[in-house]
Amino acid sequence: MTRVAIYETDYEHIEAAVEQAFDAFAPPVNGRTVLVKPNILGAVAPERHINTHPSLVRATVRALKRRGAARVMVGDNSGMFAYGPNEQTARTAGIFDAAEGHYVNLGASPVKVPVKSRFANDLAFSREVIEADLLVSLPKMKTHVATTITGAVKNTYGHLVGGEKTMLHRVAVGPMAFAEAVVDVFQVRRPDFILLDAVTAMEGQGPSGGQLREVGRVLASDNAVALDAVMAAMMGLEPRRIPILRIAEERGLGPDDLDAIEISGPFEVLPKFKVPPVGMGMGTLIARIGSYVLVQQPIVRHAKCVKCGSCVKACPVAAIVMADSGPLIDYKKCISCFCCHEMCRYEAMDLSSRMRFFLRLRG
Ligand code: SF4
Ligand code: SF4
Repeated sequence: MTRVAIYETDYEHIEAAVEQAFDAFAPPVNGRTVLVKPNILGAVAPERHINTHPSLVRATVRALKRRGAARVMVGDNSGMFAYGPNEQTARTAGIFDAAEGHYVNLGASPVKVPVKSRFANDLAFSREVIEADLLVSLPKMKTHVATTITGAVKNTYGHLVGGEKTMLHRVAVGPMAFAEAVVDVFQVRRPDFILLDAVTAMEGQGPSGGQLREVGRVLASDNAVALDAVMAAMMGLEPRRIPILRIAEERGLGPDDLDAIEISGPFEVLPKFKVPPVGMGMGTLIARIGSYVLVQQPIVRHAKCVKCGSCVKACPVAAIVMADSGPLIDYKKCISCFCCHEMCRYEAMDLSSRMRFFLRLRG
């Protein structure tokens, strides 16, 4: 039976939890080349909890070295749009230092890999992702306005280099199509071992604009789908209703049913955990109409905007231009991918449902 283990901890004592998890799952480390893949969404300090916490990265690197890894690499293709900013983003996120000399820029050496996808024939992955003997994923427990949850499956989207992520956003439009694209990427190189940073989680409008929530746990597994299913259940969600998990389960990539998962440790459904309203199953006509009305659109909060231009660069369909007054969004072009929301570090890119948005316009 697929296992998910839960450990109670805080960031100060996280090394002990990581050691327990490595002992329990015993991934084959000795003599291997290992890639550690945290979730580095953007160039923000650890206190914001948008990225995987550096203490989990540091503890993982040390655990791998204690177990005789031949080579350890740490890196992510963050949500920036050229190859250069990866390293600067990792430095600001505290992950460059936490890697203790093992940081690599995953954007430096892309390799085209054939994919089974209706959206692309091949995609540019980081060479290290494809060539590592062992892939250790360190996702963060967060909600996501486009895919409902982040977690281990979504963390593999950062295996894609630079603008390749943008390209997929552009062709896989809408929550269901994008979920399918995420699983297409996940399927190419699934992580062998996962440690989820659920010490300080994010609820509400994640992955960057939500509220922090103390959960005090690390989750471990050797199956990404099972781990995400347990995380989703802790958020009060039904895993089967989350498109990325349902699609992954249907492709035989892991169980999304808690009855098929052996859970050890302090599992708990977190009371009133706030989740975003999009990305859920939308099978029926009524649900489709409802989802159209409720679908979110980005809105600039000009009072908070510092005109940094990240949202302009992030938009895969060039729907945002920078004016003197700040970013202007062309809603006819917008495909509601929420990259702009994800990339805004100043909580200046808000989301509003179409209905609220139209009412606001009329008002
Ligand atoms: S909305 Fe956010 S990302 Fe866009 S320019 Fe303003 S501060 Fe920067
Ligand atoms: S405006 Fe924002 S949500 Fe719309 S397509 Fe551009 S990045 Fe995506």
